[in-house]
Amino acid sequence: MSKVVLSLKNLATRYGQIYALKGISLDVCEGEIVTLLGSNGAGKSTTLKTISSLVPACSGKVEFYGKDITNAPPHDIVEMGIIHVPEGRRIFKELNVQENLEMGSFTLKDDAERKRRMDRALDLFPVLKERRKQMGGLLSGGEQQMLAIGRALMTNPKVLLLDEPSMGLAPIIVQGIMDIIKQINEQGTTILLVEQNAKAALKLAHRGYVLETGEIVMEGNADVLSKDDSIVKAYLGH
Ligand code: ATP
Repeated sequence: MSKVVLSLKNLATRYGQIYALKGISLDVCEGEIVTLLGSNGAGKSTTLKTISSLVPACSGKVEFYGKDITNAPPHDIVEMGIIHVPEGRRIFKELNVQENLEMGSFTLKDDAERKRRMDRALDLFPVLKERRKQMGGLLSGGEQQMLAIGRALMTNPKVLLLDEPSMGLAPIIVQGIMDIIKQINEQGTTILLVEQNAKAALKLAHRGYVLETGEIVMEGNADVLSKDDSIVKAYLGH
């Protein structure tokens, strides 16, 4: 059994009086891709935001390798190696591709290490290599998503929290991004993937959880979930 990297224990988060998470528990083990599925407003983004302390938990716990990191300052969480790639690919539109990537490692003093990480990101995303000097804002949606993931990789994360990387992209581009997420995982990064595109996510993930109005209603191996009738009906469009 591999080590649990990230563990949510009865985690609750609210916006004002409204509970977006009503006490959820889930584990992500070393080397896994775990996907969190659910429809609009289920609480998927809030889960990632609570892990990275962008919104405060009101009860329960977030543990990283067994250590309680609930509501730790966001920069400490980044420092520990938990990197959140938010929905909507917030890249720097006025900076070029290379500068955007460098922003992911601006605190790093070691230039050789920065170069090694840059080479790795550019090898994973050859399109970005070709467009190194192009402004971020001029990239296509898919390329901006790649850049957002590439920038996260520049921090050499232990865990990547990916919020809907497929959002708004054509199916062929989605497949390309999913293939790269798989490669990143095979190179040793643990991934928690939030997706509305359940089909693509379950193809890629080892395990999954289904969230409905702030509660986990189902969990299991991805191949089991992808054959489950209620999931097929609700999320796989049959
Ligand atoms: P989506 O795919 O649409 O992003 P989601 O599953 O990620 O959905 P969340 O964004 O986590 O869902 O939202 C969960 C609930 O919390 C929703 O009811 C949403 O309206 C509410 N919510 C989210 N952000 C805020 C906020 N900043 N203030 C108030 N309510 C919020």
